[in-house]
Amino acid sequence: PEQGRVLVVDNDEINRYLLHKHLDLRGYEVDHAASGWEALAKLRSEPFDAALLDLMMPGMSGFQVLAELKADTLLRDIPVLVLSAREDLAGVADSIKGGAEDYLFKPFDPVLLDARLSTTLERKRLRDQERQRNAELEQVSSALRRSNEDLQRFAYAASHDLQAPVRTVNTYLQLLERRLGNRLQSDEREMIGYARGAAKRMHALIQDLLSYSRASTEAVHVAPLDCEELLGVLVNDLRVLIDEAGAAVSWDHPLPVILADATAVRQILQNLIGNAIKYRRDESPRVHITIVGKGDHWRFCVRDNGQGIAPEHTKRIFEMFQRLHGDDLPGSGIGLAICQRLVDRFGGKIWVDSEVGRGSVFCFTLPFQAPR
Ligand code: ADP
Repeated sequence: PEQGRVLVVDNDEINRYLLHKHLDLRGYEVDHAASGWEALAKLRSEPFDAALLDLMMPGMSGFQVLAELKADTLLRDIPVLVLSAREDLAGVADSIKGGAEDYLFKPFDPVLLDARLSTTLERKRLRDQERQRNAELEQVSSALRRSNEDLQRFAYAASHDLQAPVRTVNTYLQLLERRLGNRLQSDEREMIGYARGAAKRMHALIQDLLSYSRASTEAVHVAPLDCEELLGVLVNDLRVLIDEAGAAVSWDHPLPVILADATAVRQILQNLIGNAIKYRRDESPRVHITIVGKGDHWRFCVRDNGQGIAPEHTKRIFEMFQRLHGDDLPGSGIGLAICQRLVDRFGGKIWVDSEVGRGSVFCFTLPFQAPR
């Protein structure tokens, strides 16, 4: 049976004595009070696991004690079993509404008392356990939140501060190259070229890290966005890459006007279209974009006829720094992680369907935004 500390509250001395005796024999730790005031004073100064409370007491009634307990944040969780006369069903109903856990008729039935008290105590123990677990969980999650924020700030500050030195390295290498001009041997020129290449890669990596940081901190601006117009601008921005690759980028007409954060949508599409061209096969890349409304969200898909991705890699490419390609193709492995982060932020999903040697379809969803 459950154990615990129980307060018996009854102005009737014989009743108090009988209850005390019975509970004592059952192994409970028992104390008693002869009035509502005494009960409240004891409950406020010592810990109890439950109270047996007589409803009909002169002076302060059981109802009043119950109301005081339930109004007190420190005491409201102590379960109360009310003791009432058999004919006072209305009183029992009122006390249950007032927050009593259960009731017993007087004179008390020992079997019922045992059953109800131990159930009450067990429920309390479970509730306490749950509360404790929730508190622990809350603590862990707030620690996690803090450490995430720290990390976020660190990543931002570090990448931000790294920009300037990398720019300096690049500038001085350029100056050196220009000053020395024809005096440079071809292998020396090559060395400077390597160093500048590295500085350029570093610069790109830092930019990507900054974008990744911003993906969850930048303010959100939801406004009508004409997708047709957006893609026109994007293709223009990617013109050099598209022309170099001899790529054809197309989309369904007309594309919808949607409510969305333009910066986010643009960044995701730019990454996906850029990848669709970058990870091409020998034949000229063809990229096709669709945007359709489905249920409660927009679904964007970017289809390519590129190298494709083996099924075992389709999940991990959305993680930070995960690349399936070596240094043969430039990249930081951050682009898809940025897409994932942006999509997460708006409550959407991102995934890829792909077949090696045939191509991939990258899709993401964005829930409809309510118009402001
Ligand atoms: P990055 O392009 O900088 O390497 P991403 O995060 O954009 O980083 O992509 C991660 C990896 O996923 C890429 O290195 C590439 O191996 C693979 N990948 C991404 N898009 C495609 C695609 N359209 N076709 C084939 N592989 C792709």
